[in-house]
Amino acid sequence: MTSDLECIFCKIIEKKIPAAVIYEDPYVISFLDINPRFKGHALVIPKVHVSTLDELGDEALAHLFVVVKHVAKNLKETLGADGYNIISNNGSVAGQVVPHLHIHVVPRYADEKKGIGFEATFPVDEEAKNKLHEIAEKAKIKHEIKPAFRKDDKADTSEKEEKKDGKEENKEALPYESEYFEDNGVPKFR
Ligand code: AMP
Ligand code: ZN
Repeated sequence: MTSDLECIFCKIIEKKIPAAVIYEDPYVISFLDINPRFKGHALVIPKVHVSTLDELGDEALAHLFVVVKHVAKNLKETLGADGYNIISNNGSVAGQVVPHLHIHVVPRYADEKKGIGFEATFPVDEEAKNKLHEIAEKAKIKHEIKPAFRKDDKADTSEKEEKKDGKEENKEALPYESEYFEDNGVPKFR
C-alpha cells in the first residue's frame, strides 16, 4: 500500500489539495484540522497510506509519535496551549471518518469552557477555522525532526554503496522490521 488515489489525506501529501501545513519531513506531515475544535487543532499523519495504527511499521510509528510530541510542545510554545488531548480514531466503529491513519493533537486552553476531557461532539471553533492559515504560520515547526531510527546510517551507506552494491548493505544497516521503499523518489517505511 502506498498512496490511495481516493484518499483526501494522500491528496494533501501529494499537494493536490491545500492544507495549513505546520510540519513536514519525508515520512510525516502535520496540518491543521479543517474543522478545529480548538485553536491549533492539528493532525499528524504518516506519508504512507495505512488506515489504522496497527498497520504501520514500528519505526514509522515511532517517528510519527515523536512528531506528535514536537507538535504538542510547539502548540504550547507558539499558541499558549495549557494542555492537549492526543486522540486517534481507528476504524469506523471507533469514529474514524478519514481512512488514513491520523493522530489528533488538540490544544486545550485554561480559559475555554467546553468541558474537561475531549468529546467528539465539541463544536467547531469558527474563529480558529477562519484563521487556519494565520494560525498555521504561527504554529509552524521550522526545523526537521530527525527520525530516531537509523535513517542517517541508511542514507550514508546508500550514498557510499551506490558505487558498489548498495542495496544489500542498506538492508543490513537497518536492524528493524519495517520495509523501506521509495514512492516517487520519497523514502518511506511501512
Ligand atoms: P476522524 O473522525 O478521526 O477520522 O477525523 C477526521 C478529521 O479530519 C476531522 O476532524 C476533519 O475535520 C478532518 N479533515 C477532513 N478533511 C480535512 C482536510 N481536507 N484538511 C484538514 N482536515 C480535514
Ligand atoms: Zn491516504
